Amino acid sequence: MAYLTVANATKRFGETFTALKDVSISVERGEFFTLLGPSGCGKTTLLRSIAGFNQLTSGSILIEGRDLGSVPPHKRDIGMVFQDYAVFPHLTVFDNVAFGLKARKVAKDEIARRVPQALDAVRLGALADRLPAAMSGGQQQRIGLARAMVINPQLLLMDEPLSNLDAKLRVELREEIRDIQKQIGIAAIYVTHDQEEALAISDRICVMSNGHVEQLGTPQQIYGNPQTLFVASFVGTINALQPGAALDGLLTTLGLAELAAVHANSKWVVRPENLVIAKVAAASGEPQATISGRIAKYTYLGREAHLQIRTDLGDLVVHVANPDRTSVQLEGEVTVAVARSAVLGFDADGKRIGG
Ligand code: ATP
Repeated sequence: MAYLTVANATKRFGETFTALKDVSISVERGEFFTLLGPSGCGKTTLLRSIAGFNQLTSGSILIEGRDLGSVPPHKRDIGMVFQDYAVFPHLTVFDNVAFGLKARKVAKDEIARRVPQALDAVRLGALADRLPAAMSGGQQQRIGLARAMVINPQLLLMDEPLSNLDAKLRVELREEIRDIQKQIGIAAIYVTHDQEEALAISDRICVMSNGHVEQLGTPQQIYGNPQTLFVASFVGTINALQPGAALDGLLTTLGLAELAAVHANSKWVVRPENLVIAKVAAASGEPQATISGRIAKYTYLGREAHLQIRTDLGDLVVHVANPDRTSVQLEGEVTVAVARSAVLGFDADGKRIGG
């Protein structure tokens, strides 16, 4: 049995607005589970419903098979970390972390034992007597993490905990959060709109849009095998291939014309890193088509470069690894190779075809 089950959750605000539409997910013990989607898609609403701060309009939330419907938030055995660090500025680091234990009437000697453990886990052991005001955002968020974990919750909920931090710190702290979660072995649900963060940190990702689940799977499944056009474009980047004779020719060469024919108004896309400048294209045995074009733009980024190539399929962005080994001339003619497996097709409703 899954540790946490959300079954057919629907949440309406007022008469007309539905923030969650029939959402069903399950989270396993020890799993790092991420809710990923654009602003307003319902991630926070779902997280708050699990925490017990929102009442669902219909549907249920169960932990180990037990319906949480009538269990108030403070009895749910859940730790929460928020985007704003929500630390108490007038309390020391120690007292911030001890706060939840005192509220639960935990004995003093046990508090004295558990708080330092939690602070050590987030590498704040040496700063227990400090006031948070003088501490960095990353350190304040570590306090938040220690405070959530010191109560030994069975489930850790995190709502965009890193979004107030700068990029470098975000990467550092996300790895720490994942390490700590794996060490303790509790289930975690993490909310973010940052696709790279979701790919890096998660065991499984639930991509949401407009209050419903678009796709649920491992990072590799979400990125490599997107089941909707929304997922393909929200996670990673895509080139949309322009309809017309060039696309028809490409699909014919790749053996995809029949599939395109049975789906009126199908859309075809390819990721920039799956396109290859033909002279370096390795023969892979699978069907390949080529299209020629001119280099309209070249962006050098160190470990890779982005070429924008003007073709009859529209402008195609191609990502090239090790750009120093590629000679590039603006307006130069190049041939782009497109392998069959690189081309993703979607029907008029944005559902994947042939994938
Ligand atoms: P963000 O990343 O911006 O926080 P989100 O995906 O977490 O977005 P939610 O906060 O869950 O989105 O909000 C989903 C939708 O529900 C939004 O359109 C929001 O305006 C609406 N909403 C949330 N809470 C309420 C409320 N208490 N009353 C009315 N509408 C609400």
